[in-house]
Amino acid sequence: MTTASLLGEGSAVLAFDVGGTDTKAGLIDEHGVLREVVRVPTPYSTDGSGDAVVAQLTVLARGFADRFPDIQPEAAGLIVPGLVDDEAGVGRYAENLGWRDVPFRDQASAALGVPVAFTHDVRAAGTAEYRLGAAGNYADVLVVVIGTGIASAIFLDGMPYSAHGYAGEIGHAVIEPGGNACACGGNGCLESIGSAGAITRLYNRDAAAQVNGAREVLDRARAGDVLAASVWKDATDAIGLALAQSVALLAPEAIVLGGGLAQAGAALFEPVEERMNSLLTFHRRPVLLLASVGENAGLVGAAIGARERLAGVRS
Ligand SMILES: [Zn+2]
Repeated sequence: MTTASLLGEGSAVLAFDVGGTDTKAGLIDEHGVLREVVRVPTPYSTDGSGDAVVAQLTVLARGFADRFPDIQPEAAGLIVPGLVDDEAGVGRYAENLGWRDVPFRDQASAALGVPVAFTHDVRAAGTAEYRLGAAGNYADVLVVVIGTGIASAIFLDGMPYSAHGYAGEIGHAVIEPGGNACACGGNGCLESIGSAGAITRLYNRDAAAQVNGAREVLDRARAGDVLAASVWKDATDAIGLALAQSVALLAPEAIVLGGGLAQAGAALFEPVEERMNSLLTFHRRPVLLLASVGENAGLVGAAIGARERLAGVRS
């Protein structure tokens, strides 16, 4: 499926996905075509402000204006990691990037001269999956992104639920009290067992020969490596348990799994689904779906937000 058929006709917009390492910027034209994606390193904030990030957005926007003089973006979508208050338009905190309580929506809008829609990166990717991906036929959906960390986007009755940024942090739900240290300061969080980062770390902690990623751990498990199989099983058990808890609480009709680990396909989905179902009794079983929008889901979600912002659907 092309981006053109995904987004459809509408206003031209800018989309910015400020990641922990890189920032991706995209220009979407009136036909909904993602014309170009530019990737640059994300600046670290040394003073707690978002000034360096916002300054970089203006440079990126100017680049698009120079290269595509016929396209006039009327709004922008900006997504960032960390704790994000969509309603207030504020990036509360991003451990990796050094900012605190930055009013990104207003600052970016002033700098770019267009209305800005602002949200969390995983919620934006979730919006893209919910609107354009395989989960589109359902009203109650959980989108779980499993990569270096784990986070989710929640849709209830067709509406996103974020609770000022605090909802959806399934990666920091405790699976094993007193367990592995987590980046959040806690112990035994799902992310410290079931993320791609954790799989790599836990394997390398005990392995004689190191791996560079979770993919290699899976490859070794398939080749008969007992430690790799054990680490993989612990991860899929933890994810299955976390999903079962989510099902008990939210009863989603569909759970979409995305992020790097979801690329493992059946090797992830089958044990996770089996574990989840083994923990459920009367509950409604959700369908598990593979994320389908692709690596630019965040940018696409940001673009959807920008068009909605322009249309006044969201304030
Ligand atoms: Zn945690």
